[in-house]
Amino acid sequence: MLNTLRRIVQEVNAARDLPAALDIIVQRVREAMGTEVCSVYLLDPDTSRYVLMATEGLNKSAVGLVTLASNEGLIGYVGTREEPVNLEDAAVHPKFRYFAETGEERFASFLGVPIIHHRRVMGVLVVQQKARRQFDEGEESFLVTMSAQLAGVIAHAEATGAIRGLGWGGEVVQDTRFDGVPGAPGVAIGQAVVILPPADLNAVPDKPAVDIDAELALFRTALESVRRDMQTLSSKLASQLRPEELALFDVYLMMLDDAALGNEVVAIIRTGQWAQGALREVISDHVGRFELMDDPYLRERATDVKDLGRRILAYLQEAGRQDRVYPEQTILVSEEITPVMLGEVPKEKLVGLVSVLGSGSSHVAILARAMGVPTVMGAVDLPYTRVDGLELIVDGNHGEVYSNPSQELRRHYLELVREERELVQGLEKLREVPCITTDGHRMPLWVNTGLLADVARSLDRGAEGVGLYRTEVPFMIQDRFPSEKEQQATYREQLEAFHPLPVTMRSLDIGGDKALTYFPIKEDNPFLGWRGIRVTLDHPEIFLVQTRAMLKASHGLNNLRIMLPMISSIFEVEDALHLIHRAYSEVLDEGVDVPMPPVGVMIEVPAAVYQARELVQMVDFLSVGTNDLTQYLLAVDRNNPRVADLYHSLHPAVLQALVKVAHACRDAGKPMSVCGEMAGDPAAAVLLMAMGCDVLSMNATNLPKVKWLLRQISLEDAKALLDEVLLLDNPHLVQSTLHLALKNMGLGKVLSQR
Ligand code: PEP
Ligand code: MG
Repeated sequence: MLNTLRRIVQEVNAARDLPAALDIIVQRVREAMGTEVCSVYLLDPDTSRYVLMATEGLNKSAVGLVTLASNEGLIGYVGTREEPVNLEDAAVHPKFRYFAETGEERFASFLGVPIIHHRRVMGVLVVQQKARRQFDEGEESFLVTMSAQLAGVIAHAEATGAIRGLGWGGEVVQDTRFDGVPGAPGVAIGQAVVILPPADLNAVPDKPAVDIDAELALFRTALESVRRDMQTLSSKLASQLRPEELALFDVYLMMLDDAALGNEVVAIIRTGQWAQGALREVISDHVGRFELMDDPYLRERATDVKDLGRRILAYLQEAGRQDRVYPEQTILVSEEITPVMLGEVPKEKLVGLVSVLGSGSSHVAILARAMGVPTVMGAVDLPYTRVDGLELIVDGNHGEVYSNPSQELRRHYLELVREERELVQGLEKLREVPCITTDGHRMPLWVNTGLLADVARSLDRGAEGVGLYRTEVPFMIQDRFPSEKEQQATYREQLEAFHPLPVTMRSLDIGGDKALTYFPIKEDNPFLGWRGIRVTLDHPEIFLVQTRAMLKASHGLNNLRIMLPMISSIFEVEDALHLIHRAYSEVLDEGVDVPMPPVGVMIEVPAAVYQARELVQMVDFLSVGTNDLTQYLLAVDRNNPRVADLYHSLHPAVLQALVKVAHACRDAGKPMSVCGEMAGDPAAAVLLMAMGCDVLSMNATNLPKVKWLLRQISLEDAKALLDEVLLLDNPHLVQSTLHLALKNMGLGKVLSQR
């Protein structure tokens, strides 16, 4: 059964468009279940009616014509109940509604299951039979499983149509929204440039050839290059391989012959398809045929054809990369954007980024924030291979991407872009003034950094210190652990650039979703696994080298602070302090005279909130990492777009936790800072200040906005607002109450809005 399921899903996945996908579904499900009828009805979100979209067994002429209101007939009944309906004799059911066009009066038994994707009923999958009988449990669960798997595939096919501006009924659709997670703040409108993953044939979309002769020439050159590679490889290996193994290269060369694969690709290019698309068509056709063969030897040939296809594709892509022209307003889109891809776009042309994989804490998101490029990460439902050349809107504040924007939406976002530009320009003059509330409370605003590029932007925006220097960033752009000397030089640059302002360096925080290519950590549950301080305490050699490098880098500057991530127990702090003191005495022994820097603990795990009173006694300051604290308190993966709606730093539980930490620090007379993204949200910053936070550390882009807002409000009003929202039990209510109050004070302009 599992194989049948898998085969059907694979086949549906490969379908060209939604109608083709639905046709495959009804054919294959009818075959697999041995029923007389299988049909799919989809719910049109605009009209709220179910439309018969595909059928095997009913009159095909009824497809597209038969429609039912969302609560009408048995189909509506299945959709409303959101569970299977299994009837021995459908006609006697009070909900039964007869459509002469379908000829369904002949079929007595009925099994319908809803097709649901992300809570949304998308349609109903139905099987019917003449004989009067109840479908058995096995059949019911097969159909339920099928429907659950197909929901995602149908949603994808629907999204692919929507990207081209077509609804599944062929009507024009606009403003289709794809959800991801915020990567870097800001909004942008521009033209998508898609970078396909290297040599992945499945990711190659159909695209009309702009110049057929040029595509033909490209293909021939690529073919020639692969032929040359094969010959070189074959002669290189001639002495090591047996003749029968070497014969494989002849097979490859034969396949590359004009009379074989080459000719087929050329024929498709001549019909107007670009070379990469034509290659994909031919290769997947051959691979499919080989895979179906009974003879194991011939089945194996599928792998050879795939390999050959990949090699040719790599050459075609390389040629494409060299010829790529970036539009004036480029939105770079890829499955996984890499820093190298970023580097290839001329800086003045890059206005936005969309990455299908990754999260707000991915390396590229950190880079994007440093560069001030609006970014959406984790747009998993975006059929990204199909958007090349299309106009997109990137909303980095909310983690949303829009395709086919209507005039109205475009106007709205152009207005936001303009407002943002004016706001930023207007706030430039704030650079020199301190952050003081109207009743004289001083609120230091610091920045989070990771790259050297952050330094200039931060100082430019009036940062008063660094509350979080993510040391893993320089580790991530290397291909091995940086040496003590290399680290020392990197840290020195940060410390010098900000001197005499304080720089808080966090010990290496890898694991979770922050990977080093040269130190892979493979775990089922990385956020609950070997992460942050847990890794570095297990590897004192890494911790000691890093701490020594920090200490030596601070020589003569004395503006270093050290901070420990992911602390969940007292003994971790004891062990870390022990190592820090050891590194310190080693540095002194080497004759480098530096003072012992202040050391702090990050509060990122619920356990640390409950032990904040004990922890604060052991160190000089506490710093709350609200990004992780929110994810661990709410048990919501901070990088998973599927649960992004549940991730809320203004959740009452998070606010209570912050208050608890603030009280612990106040009672101990030690400073508390917040260095998660929450500190850079102007509205949230008001609450954090009211709680008694001593330092807010944020990305440089948001700093002027936070400063502007805090300078317009009094600490007294902020405290009253905090008292008010602490009584609320719902994160959405907290947010709306907060925003409304600030808007009523005339302070709405810096709040993120749609
Ligand atoms: C945090 O968790 O809030 C934090 C600042 O650290 P990071 O985002 O690097 O995990
Ligand atoms: Mg963290």
